[in-house]
Amino acid sequence: MKRFLPFLLSIVLLAGCTPQQAATEPAQVQFFAMDTLMSIRVYNEGGEDAVQAARQEVERLDKLLSRTDADSTISALNSHAGDGTMVSLEPEVTQLLSFAKSVSELLPGDFDITIAPVMDAWGFTTEERHVPSEEALSAAMALVDSSLLTVDESASAARLERAGMEVDLGAIAKGFTAAQAEAVLRENGATSALLDLGGNVTAIGSKLDGTAWQVAVKDPQNTDEALCVLSLTDQTASTSGGYERYFEEDGVTYHHIIDPKTGYPADSGLRSVTVISSNHMLADALSTALFVAGPEEALDFWRSRDDFELVLCTDDNRVIVTEGLEAGYRPAGEDRGYTYEIARR
Ligand code: ADP
Ligand code: MG
Repeated sequence: MKRFLPFLLSIVLLAGCTPQQAATEPAQVQFFAMDTLMSIRVYNEGGEDAVQAARQEVERLDKLLSRTDADSTISALNSHAGDGTMVSLEPEVTQLLSFAKSVSELLPGDFDITIAPVMDAWGFTTEERHVPSEEALSAAMALVDSSLLTVDESASAARLERAGMEVDLGAIAKGFTAAQAEAVLRENGATSALLDLGGNVTAIGSKLDGTAWQVAVKDPQNTDEALCVLSLTDQTASTSGGYERYFEEDGVTYHHIIDPKTGYPADSGLRSVTVISSNHMLADALSTALFVAGPEEALDFWRSRDDFELVLCTDDNRVIVTEGLEAGYRPAGEDRGYTYEIARR
């Protein structure tokens, strides 16, 4: 329920559309998958089949990628950790694992899909969330190292080299799924659509009137309000923030994005990171990784590439927007004390 309300409100914000468009009812579906509420909307005529096919694709991938479903592909990989077996995987899963490893290599110490034992130590998987003992945490940390995940793309197989290791795709599965669902939508004739996969909003095509989609980035301190509004066409906006999943113990808040260098929730000076990219999977992975990295490293990394843009919300209420978004964003939180600045290359 905690996640349901912001979702509804994000739809209200998303729906801040032209009267012309409001008159057109999209074909749409809302459902739970990957531990979050999702929605798929197709605005062009005859989108009903596309919506249903995309939902089936999301549910198929949820079954493949879930670590809590004992029958999933990922569970098969995890269950053979340390026993030497190369586990056969669907080619798409092998590609996903390779991509995740490449993000770890690009941003060492910020992103690691073998973080699962640490997520478990904090109880994030079981809902019995607690601060782990130092022993439990160091035992879990000894199992986090994605260089010990061997991936053979040509054989479509992978192996975890140490017993107890486990893969958790929570940081990347929704972006991967957005790309696959987009392909299914397009195959089924969708040209104007919105996918909201819990914190990852993918804009397919443009609105029916040809203008860009308007997607709100949530205020991390006040999730029923917008921090800014972005114009998106054929892009994903993926947001990671400490406010998404957390618990409190002895007055301290602990959230679900872990710094693989310490085993503790990342505390890098950011409240949230939004990554905007036409590569949906990259957007998802980087929003998590750059939240761990912090503002300086995030901007340095942005300057080294040309395939994404950023909205960073810092702990001291600065909103840093990279220059590629300058023409297509609107600040919305000045009255809540936020100041906005443009980062240049
Ligand atoms: P959300 O799932 O709330 O949209 P993210 O995309 O940022 O947020 O993913 C957070 C999830 O990623 C966690 O629940 C956990 O499964 C996993 N995770 C946490 N820290 C890391 C990390 N440093 N690198 C890779 N995966 C992580
Ligand atoms: Mg992510």
